[in-house]
Amino acid sequence: MAAKAVARARIITCRPKHLPQDKLIHAARRAVEINPMNHAPVERLASLIPGFAPTHMHLAVLIAKYWGPAGVHLSVGFLDNPPMALRKKILLHMNAWNKTANVKFSLSNTSPDVRIARIANDPVNDGYWSYVGTQIREIDADQPTMNLEAFSMSTPDSEYHRVVRHETGHTLGFEHEHMRRELVKLIDVQKAIAFYRDDQGWSPAEVREQVLTPIEDRSLRGTLHADPNSIMCYEIEGSITKNGKPIIGGLDIDKSDYDFAAKLYPKKLRGTNDTPAKEKPVAKRKAAAKKKPAAKKKPAAKKRPILRRKTAKK
Ligand SMILES: [Zn+2]
Repeated sequence: MAAKAVARARIITCRPKHLPQDKLIHAARRAVEINPMNHAPVERLASLIPGFAPTHMHLAVLIAKYWGPAGVHLSVGFLDNPPMALRKKILLHMNAWNKTANVKFSLSNTSPDVRIARIANDPVNDGYWSYVGTQIREIDADQPTMNLEAFSMSTPDSEYHRVVRHETGHTLGFEHEHMRRELVKLIDVQKAIAFYRDDQGWSPAEVREQVLTPIEDRSLRGTLHADPNSIMCYEIEGSITKNGKPIIGGLDIDKSDYDFAAKLYPKKLRGTNDTPAKEKPVAKRKAAAKKKPAAKKKPAAKKRPILRRKTAKK
């Protein structure tokens, strides 16, 4: 309630950042270095992670941005020297994902992996955004990987839950992917096509695929049950909805988010004697990944081409 009283009419929605095209090839190569499975079908995860079931994937993780089953341990720094209390509060909310997943963010002033800025009044970089997953490795060391416009100690707690946890989800590799039919219906098709053409360089076909096709219709890997309350539920600017109101999406990490994060970044990996997941040598991981080669081969058509951002040729 305090949130509504304090926040002004403007609700900032998230604009995920994507690498420029000239960096994508290198990013993909590095993603495979970070996690050899990034070049492999998602089904291969099933051989490493107990209980991993791609058909239950409701947050679509771009596999080529996935940090790998060993978990996510990253250092976090700030580019504008905010007070320690603010740093700690942001970190606390980033680490909310640790409740079920092998995720650990820690403060650092030296070469931090995640670099948070609070850029405002800059049409290109203001707002809330984060690069996705391993792509943060491609960003120059003096540049932010995440922006939390104007966040301060007086920002309502609800915004920490809604925004910091959401942007951290992007850093973990989660995209906005599960748009539900009832949300898609609210979007003005022509406005959306124009908006994403200017904002992302997408063709109309890509806008239809990425934004205007309800997740239920994509059915990328069998039955999906979209979760309207997911923290990663797509946020849409008011400028492209029929009624002019933004779609805010989830307000906090919910149970299915936590369950899913736990499957992607399990606290215990199969065959590691219950020790917390650590980076296994590449050779071992490759060998492990090969163990069950064709156990669960899915039709190739089910693999969704979610990497095709900014690559329109039309
Ligand atoms: Zn987002």
